[in-house]
Amino acid sequence: MTLTASARLMDGTALARRITEETAARAAAITERTGSAPCLATVLVGEDPASVTYVRMKRSRCAKAGIESRHLALPAETGTEELVDTLTGLSEDPAVHGILLQHPVGPHIDERAAFEAIAPAKDVDGVTVHSFGAMGFGLPGFQSCTPGGIMRLLDEYGVELAGRKAVVVGRSAILGRPVGMLLLARDATVTYCHSRTRDLAAELREADVVVAAVGRPRLVRGEDLKPGAVVIDAGYNPGNIGDVDFESASARASLITPVPGGVGPMTIAVLLAQTVDAAARQLGGSA
Ligand code: NAP
Repeated sequence: MTLTASARLMDGTALARRITEETAARAAAITERTGSAPCLATVLVGEDPASVTYVRMKRSRCAKAGIESRHLALPAETGTEELVDTLTGLSEDPAVHGILLQHPVGPHIDERAAFEAIAPAKDVDGVTVHSFGAMGFGLPGFQSCTPGGIMRLLDEYGVELAGRKAVVVGRSAILGRPVGMLLLARDATVTYCHSRTRDLAAELREADVVVAAVGRPRLVRGEDLKPGAVVIDAGYNPGNIGDVDFESASARASLITPVPGGVGPMTIAVLLAQTVDAAARQLGGSA
C-alpha cells in the first residue's frame, strides 16, 4: 500500500524563533533598565558528548538572545555533596538568575538531591519538586521546558484540547508526566501509557492527541492512529529519528511535528523565555 502524506507540519523551528525574538527584546529591556543582563548558569557533570552538545547549543542561543551564561564543567567523578554545594552556591548568587543542571548526571549521583538544591525562583528548567507541584496545582511557576514547548506548539496550531482524548506515551518526570498534567489542566481526558501498558495500539486508536515521549525509534505507527489525530513526537533517538514513524503517521494525522524541527527547538525557546522571566522577577519590574 502506498501512503500519501496529508498531515500539516507543526513548525517548531519557526515558532521557537519567534518566541526567542520576543525573549531577546525582553532581555534587552531588562539590561537597559537595570544594567544587568539576565544570566543562566549551566552545570555539566562529565563529558557525555550529547550533553556537551546540548549545553553548547543552549549557551549559544542564550548569547544570541542577549542572555549571559556562566558555565561550570565539573569532572565526571564529582559526587552528590559537591554538586549540591555548587548548585546551592549558584542559588545564592545574586548575579545568577536561572540554573540549568544538564541531565542525566551519572548513576553515582543522587539526581533528585541535586535538582532540589536549585532555588525554585531560579528553576528555569522546571525540575524541582516545587515547580512540579506548582504545575500540578495550576499555580504560577516554571514549567518543564519540553512539556511547556509542546503546549505552546498545540496552542500555536489552534488545537482544541478541552474534552479531547489525549494519550501520552511515556511517564518520565521531565517529559511524559508533566505534559500529561498540562494537558489535564486544559481539560483534556488524559491517558498515560508506559512500558507496562498492555495494548498500546488500542489506546492510541482512541486518541485525538498523541504525545510520544518514549525514546524508542518509530514506536508509534500510522496504522495505530485515529484518522485526523494530532501527533506530537518528543522523541529524539540517534540518527535524528523520532518515537513516531513519520511516514505512516503523517498519512493519518491532521497535524504532526517533524523530527528534527518540531519539539526540540521549542525546549530551548522555553528555557530562554523562563530565564528572562526569572531575571525580571529577581531584578525587579516586569519584562
Ligand atoms: P525516559 O526517562 O527513558 O522515559 C521513557 C518512558 O517511556 C518511560 O515512562 C517508559 O515507561 C516508557 N516506555 C519505554 N518503553 C515503552 C514502550 N515500549 N511502550 C510504552 N512506553 C514505553 O525518557 P525521557 O527522558 O522521557 O525521553 C523520552 C524521549 O524524549 C527520548 O527520545 C528523549 O531523547 C526525548 N527528549 C526530547 C527532548 C527535547 O527537547 N526534544 C527533551 C527530553 C527528552 P516506564 O516508566 O514504565 O519505564
